[in-house]
Amino acid sequence: MKVTRIDHIGIAVKDLEEAAEIYRDFLQLEVTDIEEVPDQKVKVAFIPVGDSEVELLEPTTEDSPVAKFIEKRGEGIHHMALRVDNLEEALARAQAAGIRLIDKTPRPGAGGARIAFLHPRSSNRVLIELCERAD
Ligand code: ZN
Repeated sequence: MKVTRIDHIGIAVKDLEEAAEIYRDFLQLEVTDIEEVPDQKVKVAFIPVGDSEVELLEPTTEDSPVAKFIEKRGEGIHHMALRVDNLEEALARAQAAGIRLIDKTPRPGAGGARIAFLHPRSSNRVLIELCERAD
């Protein structure tokens, strides 16, 4: 298993369009994709920056985990996604190492990725998403 890059940084926002403005208008970055991920009850926008991306996450329901995050902590950085070349192997290694997992098996993420979250208690309260993409 190899971690190849920071795939994206996820930012929890109340309003995707409003949040995208500073990236688009001031930073001159392009919002390439807006899609809904029903599994996580969010609408996401991707903003490529070199080899990585910024992912804006707007909750679509009140019981969305991102809605609860914003309610508790306000808007801001929600997770860091690391690209791995083999997600099953990464999860097996995490389990063997006693790392707490939110997802024991991969689930579908935005942009056709397969993803799984580690529990933030195992990583200094940083929510880490492991992410495998065909590329
Ligand atoms: Zn993400």
